[in-house]
Order: sequence, then structure tokens, then C-alpha cells
Amino acid sequence: MNELDTKYFKKLVKEKLSDKSLRTIVKKATFHSLQKRNETIQNDISEKWEQLREKAYSIRKITIENWDYYFNQIKAKFSENGIDFFYAKNSSEVCDIVNNLLFSYKAKNIVKSKSMVTEEVGLNEYLEKFGFIVTETDLGEYIIQLANERPSHITAPALHKSRSEIGFLFSEKLNIDYTDAPEKLTDYARQILRKKFLNADVGISGANFLVAETGTIVIVENEGNARLTITLPKLHIVITSIEKIVPTLSDALILLRLLPVSSTGQKITSYVSFINKPEEEDNSSKNLKKIVVILLDNGRSKLISDKKLRSILYCIKCGACMNKCPVYQLIGGHAYGSVYPGPIGSILTPWLNSFKDSKDLAYGSSLCGACSEICPVKIDIHYQLLRIRKYSIEKKFSPFIEKIIFKIWLQIVKNYKIYNLLSNILCFLGPLFQETGLKIPVWSKYKYFPAPFEFSFHKWWQREVKTQEEYANV
Ligand code: SF4
Repeated sequence: MNELDTKYFKKLVKEKLSDKSLRTIVKKATFHSLQKRNETIQNDISEKWEQLREKAYSIRKITIENWDYYFNQIKAKFSENGIDFFYAKNSSEVCDIVNNLLFSYKAKNIVKSKSMVTEEVGLNEYLEKFGFIVTETDLGEYIIQLANERPSHITAPALHKSRSEIGFLFSEKLNIDYTDAPEKLTDYARQILRKKFLNADVGISGANFLVAETGTIVIVENEGNARLTITLPKLHIVITSIEKIVPTLSDALILLRLLPVSSTGQKITSYVSFINKPEEEDNSSKNLKKIVVILLDNGRSKLISDKKLRSILYCIKCGACMNKCPVYQLIGGHAYGSVYPGPIGSILTPWLNSFKDSKDLAYGSSLCGACSEICPVKIDIHYQLLRIRKYSIEKKFSPFIEKIIFKIWLQIVKNYKIYNLLSNILCFLGPLFQETGLKIPVWSKYKYFPAPFEFSFHKWWQREVKTQEEYANV
């Protein structure tokens, strides 16, 4: 597995910014998703999109604010439905529970459908150490498993790879002739994965929603691999995080109207599975397949108890904030060094990991607010980014030089005369930089800083007010 870590964020950003081909691939993919999303909203959503977002926001708010209630309700429902349930405080508890289950089933071959929570706990690496053979069956996840990488996007794990890169990867790892034709590559993967499904002892999946009133597990996907993962093996283990609970089936349906549109621009995904209870094997109710649900906390209940931070957990993991983020578009997902990249990763990771090591993620943002604007459940993402910055300063985690710079800046903006003098000097010098823009050490290596305008905003405002007054007097 490649060594990524949030404390190397700045270093990774520099590295990724100089990779022009990565930038082109990421921009193309994110642009495509956004375009499809916008078209679907415009052409196919009969209800007003904003009304749906409002409803979704209140569903998520109510659930998280009353989480204890719904947690107890779903626990009772799981037991009524014959589903085993575990609450895991942290990653190592999840790994231990899974390990014990696999040993008790004498399992060897495991198939997995997409689950970001298993990435969070490092399940594959853990199981491989014990000799289990784990195969990712979502095509994107399969690609990055072959490449020994991490997902770079929460819904499109191999978004950073071009067709030719995938072609070379398949040719090298699967020992086949090179091709970059998507149909052929998919067909190769399909043939291999079919055999894996048929030989699998256990299937591991994530879940998009867990419905408290019925104990239903909801899984959305496009490839049918999740359905095979959950139906073929005798044991199905669901690993997800505690915030995935929703109160009712109709609440889940509202969220299902928003999730695929925000994620891939589809009205609905090709497969939506609702699982209530274990299936009977060979039509005998004595021979039931087993379903086990493991809910990971990993610091989330602390977020739930914090009124200012709990909205982070409203997230339905659609990935739209990544697609829209101008920073993500430039650096891709691996630069973040965290399991959850992009804006949502930047506000979630510091609270789940070491805050000191991950706080820099919150500075990888222009604070333009595009993430909050696109978020289907209306998370105040850019305010959460500011909250992390504030906390970082309060805890004295920010560099001393930053503190000095802001102190000087504060003195300047507090003193009208100095502020005005400096902005006039900049405006006076502006024409000298019209061609090249301002050159700021390091910063200008990657970005263009336009030259200051020939007069300041203040002057423009005075002129504007005067014109308005003259106009009013005519
Ligand atoms: S924060 Fe919002 S936009 Fe981003 S992944 Fe979560 S639900 Fe989607």
C-alpha cells in the first residue's frame, strides 16, 4: 500500500500540482459528473431540487440529534429480523470481529463490494496478514487493488487513472494483451470476478443507509457486484459507520432521490438492494444464511455530541463536493493523504485522526463555498473548514509566522490611513504587472496572481455613490 498520510499534505500537494496529466484526468472526470448532475436536475427532477435538499437536511438533522433513540430502535429491529449486530468503538475492534467471524466460518476467500469504512479501518491489509484472500469486486476498487493504491474519490475510486494506465495495469498484472478499450477491460475483470464470486466463503459490503423502523440495510450500486457479494456466500458482513442510520423507509427514499443524482448524475442506480433478513438456503428455514452488521464509531459519537460539529455526519457520501471543489480538481484525491479526500475529508479527518497532523487539510481550500452549495444535505462545509482553522489557532497548532502575519494584517486593516496608503501604492504599481501578474515567491509557481486594478475598491465605491447621488438629483 502506498504511504499516504495527512501530515504530508503540503508535500503531496506540491507533487500533485506538478502532475499535469493527473490534473487533466481529474478535471475531465469531475466536469463530466457535474454536467450529468446538472442535466438530470434540470430535465428529470420533477420536485424542486431545493425542496428535496431541505427535506434531506431535516431528515439528517433529526436523525443525528436523536441518534441514541434510532440506534436502539435499529438494534432491536436487527435482532427481531435475525441479523447479528456489533458496535465497534474503533478500527481494531472491527478487524477483530471480522477476523473471529472468518475463523469461525473457516473462510479463506472473501469478496468485497465497495465500502469506504473498510478503507478507514484498513481491513484488507489486516486480513491479508492472516492469509485471507480478499478481492475487491467493484471495478474501480478492483483496479486500485491491482495498482496497490487507495481510492482517490469516495464514489469513483480509480478516477485518477486514464484508460491507457488501466490498460497497462491489466496487461501487467493479469498477463493479457494490452488494450485500452473499456468494454474489453471490463470483460476481462468480469471473467476473473465471476470465479471469485463462485468460490467466495464470505461477502463483505458497506451500506448506504440503515433504516431504523424496519431494520433494513440499503445498498446502492451500478455493477451488480454488491448483489452477488451479499447473496452468493453463506455469510454476509456489513461494515459501516454509526451515522448511516435513517429513521424510516420513506426518509431513505428521499435520500435515494438525491444520492445518485449528486454522485453520478443518474436518477437512480442500476441496482438498489433492500435487505431485511437472512435468506433461506435451499428453501429450508433451518438453513439460514447469516448477516452480521458492524457499526464503526471511531470518534463519531463525540462529533454527535458537539452541536457545532455534528452536521459533518449528515454526509451521505455522494462525492459531489469533491467534483465541485476547485482544489480537488487541481490535486486529485491522493494529495489529501486521507481515506476521505476533498472537502468532506478535510472536515471529517481532523476529528477522527490526529487533529494536529490533519489540520492542514482545512487550509487546502479557497473557502469559495462551492462545496456547501452543491451538498445535497446542506452541510455547512466551508464554515466547518473555518472552525478547524480557528481551533487550530486556539490550540496553538498553527506556525508562529502565520500568527505574526495575521497580527500585522490586523493592524493594517484596523488603521484606515495605513490600509489606504498601501492599497494606493499597489494600485499605482499595478500597471507594471499587467502582463505578468504579481509574482509572489512559491505561490506564483503554481498560480497566477492578477495585478492590482488601477484604483482601489474604496475609490470605486466613492465614485459610484457620487454618481448615484447625481443621478438621483436629475
Ligand atoms: S459533504 Fe455533502 S456533497 Fe460532500 S460527499 Fe457528503 S453529502 Fe456529498
